[in-house]
Amino acid sequence: MSYLYKQTPLTPKRLSQLRLLISELAQLKNPNHADLLSLLRKYPDPAGGMFAKSDLNQAYKRLLSKGEIKPLPKKTLQLFKKRPIRTLSGVAPVTVLTKPFPCPGQCIFCPSDVRMPKSYLANEPGAQRAERNFFDPYLQTINRLKALYANGHKVTKAEIIVLGGTWSFYPEPYQIWFIKECFHALNDFGTEKEAIEVRKKVKFYESLDRQLREKSYHSFIKDDPKKNEKELKEKAVDGLKLKKNYNQVVQEVYLKPERVLGVSKFQSASWGELEKQQKVNETARVRCVGLVLETRPDNISEAEVVRLRRLGATKTQIGVQSLNDTVLKKNKRGHDVASTRKAFLLLRLAGFKIHAHWMANLYGSSVEADKKDYLKLFQDKDFKPDELKIYPTSLIASAELMQYFKKGLWRPYSQEELLDVLEFALTHTPAYCRLTRVIRDIPSGDIVVGNKKTNFRQIVTDHLSTKGKKLVDIRAREIRDVSFDVDKIKFSVITYPTGVSTEKFLQFTVNVGNEEKLLAFLRLSLPTQGGFIDELKDSAVIREVHVYGRLADIGEKHRDKAQHLGLGTKLIEKAKEIAKKSGYKKLAVISAVGTREYYRKRGFKDGGLYQVASLTSLKSW
Ligand code: SF4
Repeated sequence: MSYLYKQTPLTPKRLSQLRLLISELAQLKNPNHADLLSLLRKYPDPAGGMFAKSDLNQAYKRLLSKGEIKPLPKKTLQLFKKRPIRTLSGVAPVTVLTKPFPCPGQCIFCPSDVRMPKSYLANEPGAQRAERNFFDPYLQTINRLKALYANGHKVTKAEIIVLGGTWSFYPEPYQIWFIKECFHALNDFGTEKEAIEVRKKVKFYESLDRQLREKSYHSFIKDDPKKNEKELKEKAVDGLKLKKNYNQVVQEVYLKPERVLGVSKFQSASWGELEKQQKVNETARVRCVGLVLETRPDNISEAEVVRLRRLGATKTQIGVQSLNDTVLKKNKRGHDVASTRKAFLLLRLAGFKIHAHWMANLYGSSVEADKKDYLKLFQDKDFKPDELKIYPTSLIASAELMQYFKKGLWRPYSQEELLDVLEFALTHTPAYCRLTRVIRDIPSGDIVVGNKKTNFRQIVTDHLSTKGKKLVDIRAREIRDVSFDVDKIKFSVITYPTGVSTEKFLQFTVNVGNEEKLLAFLRLSLPTQGGFIDELKDSAVIREVHVYGRLADIGEKHRDKAQHLGLGTKLIEKAKEIAKKSGYKKLAVISAVGTREYYRKRGFKDGGLYQVASLTSLKSW
């Protein structure tokens, strides 16, 4: 069984065919996807089928290094990229899943697939990748970087997104180890150490797998789907019967054997070990420019916020789900709106970016109630998330919601109702918020009844354009790969109050046709009340700096792309002016480990958890 991303080897026969293909492509003036497709058909893979984009990338790099071909124009090379959108926002996303583990929540809508961390399903592509890699953070990170690189993406700036259950509920030594191993993988990627480490880890997990089988604990993580299926049936959590819940099964089949076999010893690390890997990452080839952790509002406390920061986190994904206490209670969320309010307050005072999850069609809600709730998300000054995922409830067989459905207490929205709610939500999302997802991408086979379409953002956008309306959220305005006139760049500020700060969204935009496109932005927080972190006393906080454009290597210059117009530096300069005028003595930044060097070069000094610049001594550019 292969655990890591593997490419079909470039045999002489395959390479020779690819040489012909690439040479013919090089003759074409401004080739497009259709041209490439006809060449892929003309020169099929001798191993069968058509060549993959990773084959084109591999062959191109090989032929170029041997001097057998000339470099292709950048535009032509874009055709070799699989899903170019992945790195268009300027950063390579690396999503990693934690292992199956009990969750303190009892949410009735939440799937319970015991092969996965709570709420994830084994059929989701990201989840499958994680399972193939034993949920090991090192293997998952290496695997993802390899896949992105092989498909033509640059991976010098990575955002690590940790998903799965409730992060804060995992034991601290596991959390530290998990993050340490993500950094370890970024630091080792493409070096000789990588292969040695991968071999070591695979050996460990193979031996563990053998022992689990011998002792008959479980055999989920094996190359035997048939047996998996049989076993899963026995161990599955059934939303209708609920003989055992997810937490009980996970205790039985993972945690108990793990204790016996000493897995927790292997999966634990100290703060010192983590800090060592973080230090290496500051100047590594693949730097961590963002670290996202997912948790519940009631797990956020002052101490927890400090701990998340110490791990290197810059953003939290937080399940709001509803801002109505009755709905939260009916869905057994186990927390109220007050705890969400408090979590937002603490995270904002600490400068975190807040990525909220909100749900429509929950048990006890309605189309009109959902619209009211969504408005509250942005009108109530205590919330106003920076990013948002909208997840309309999907009915999954393993969720307790099945019982409510069978009794006729809940039903999924019709397509019209769903469109109504989503259109309302999308058109009431402000320009400072990024709508990262509109429907959760659940494999249609897992949805018992209800909507199976995942392209609702497109459906709503098309519907709105027939009425001459446009969305204004960040994602709708990102410049992506559109050419623009450098002389037409404009600077503006969106100001909005929150319960604990005045937020300034500084942005560089440019008009392309009749659309305003976003080139870069900076989130500046001007606290209106004292916080709980001494380091941030009298300080304004930069919560995020983001410059769009195709991901460029660190230090590489592209005059025509947004990432190298110096917009990030200009935004920091503007933030300094605004903070100074507003009476703050210092400007702090919640920097990611891999951006520490960037801020040092701009006059920020390392503090305990943040980098801080005195506003009087900050260099002027
Ligand atoms: S807290 Fe999240 S993961 Fe846990 S049961 Fe609720 S929705 Fe599922």
